[in-house]
Order: sequence, then structure tokens, then C-alpha cells
Amino acid sequence: MANNKIILEVKNASYRYSDADEDDYALKNINFTFEKGKVYAIKGRSGSGKTTLLSLISGLEKCSEGDILFEGKSLKEMNLDKYRNSDIGIVFQSYNLLPFMTASENIILSMDVSGLKVKDKKAKALELMKKVGLKKSYIDRKVLRLSGGEQQRVAIARSLSYNPTLILADEPTGNLDKQTENEILAIFKSLAHDEDKCVIIVTHSANVCNAVDKVYDLPKNK
Ligand code: ADP
Ligand code: MG
Repeated sequence: MANNKIILEVKNASYRYSDADEDDYALKNINFTFEKGKVYAIKGRSGSGKTTLLSLISGLEKCSEGDILFEGKSLKEMNLDKYRNSDIGIVFQSYNLLPFMTASENIILSMDVSGLKVKDKKAKALELMKKVGLKKSYIDRKVLRLSGGEQQRVAIARSLSYNPTLILADEPTGNLDKQTENEILAIFKSLAHDEDKCVIIVTHSANVCNAVDKVYDLPKNK
């Protein structure tokens, strides 16, 4: 019987940047399977292709060889705008928020970009902020007046604005202390275990690897 928990399959995926030498692959023959309800870590040294793999999974780059399937369907045959604006949420190491806008404005902007139809966007933003442990009083605070951990919470709330099933995080705790890292990990775990989302974290943190449900290793090619 088919495993209906599987949400994403990376099948024999290789990637070579257009300006790289002929045999210089950023990723080579990667096979990973991801299920809903679990948090994954993809572990690898600097330069092992972690960010490249997330670019392939998020449809920003296309596999040179192999394929990526979302819910059984090749990304090559999908409407990637819709995929990026509704199926996946992305969280970055450097938060990538707009610093002079408030926490709620950052979240609402993401709703607008994705074309989400919500009556009261500010109420929805507040609900998302609560979910990631941010106080109500932070809603109108400019992002540049929040700590790193608080900014990452806003970024996670933003990534959830259109309720994606798959959350991709590129070294999301790379700039944070261990205590804050654990708090952020608890949010990701709750999203997977309580809301059946699939969370994929690329990292080189042993602490992150110890906390997740499954770890995939990305070998260094060179
Ligand atoms: P990681 O995120 O694990 O540190 P990356 O995916 O950023 O690794 O990089 C993997 C390899 O691809 C490295 O050798 C890097 O130099 C190369 N690379 C990354 N981005 C580009 C790019 N835009 N153009 C060419 N080569 C790149
Ligand atoms: Mg990287």
C-alpha cells in the first residue's frame, strides 16, 4: 500500500551550477524521502550543498539530473508560482524580514503576496504570532527593535501565513544561542507533531540533529 504520509521525494537529484566545471556538482545523486508529521534535519558541512538542495526543493532551481516530487508530482510539471505561494513556507538563517516594518506588517505582506483571502489580516497575524510564542504587544513593534530569536519567530509566523504543509528552513538557528535554538526547535516540532506538517531544517548543529525525528547526511563531494 502506498504511504500517504510521504509529501516530498528527492530522487537521484544532481545539480551543477552553470558556471561550474563539467564534473563539479554541488549535489550528486541525492535520494531522500520526507513524510508529514515529522521534523527532518539535513546535515552537512559548509559547501556540501544544503542551500542548493533547498533551492531545488523550493523550485528556484531545476535538478540537472533526477527529480523532485511533491505529493507524487514532479516539480517539472507543476505550477511553481502556486507551489511556492501556497504549499511551502521558507525560513532563513538571517530572518529576511523587512526591518522598518512591524512584525504584523511583515506577516500581512506575505499574505498579500500569496494572494491569501482573509477578512481580518491583522487578527490572523496576531493568531500566528501567538502560535510562535510572541506577545500581543509586539504586533506593532518594528522588526529592528526585536531580538534575533523574536525576529526568527516572526519569520516562522510569516512562513505559516498561508498554512503550507511543507516548511523549509535554512540554518534557522545559525545566529541564535542554544536556549533560543531549543525554543525555535520546539515550535517546529509542534508544527510537525500537532499539525501534521513536514519540517525540513538544514543545519550543521549537532543540537538540532539530536532534537529532530530523522537526520539525513549530505556527503561532501569534493
Ligand atoms: P551549503 O549551503 O551546504 O554551505 P551551498 O549549497 O551553498 O552549500 O553550495 C554548494 C556548492 O555549490 C559550493 O561548492 C558552492 O561554492 C557552490 N555554489 C553555491 N551557490 C552557487 C552559485 N550561485 N553559483 C555557483 N556555484 C555555487
Ligand atoms: Mg547554505
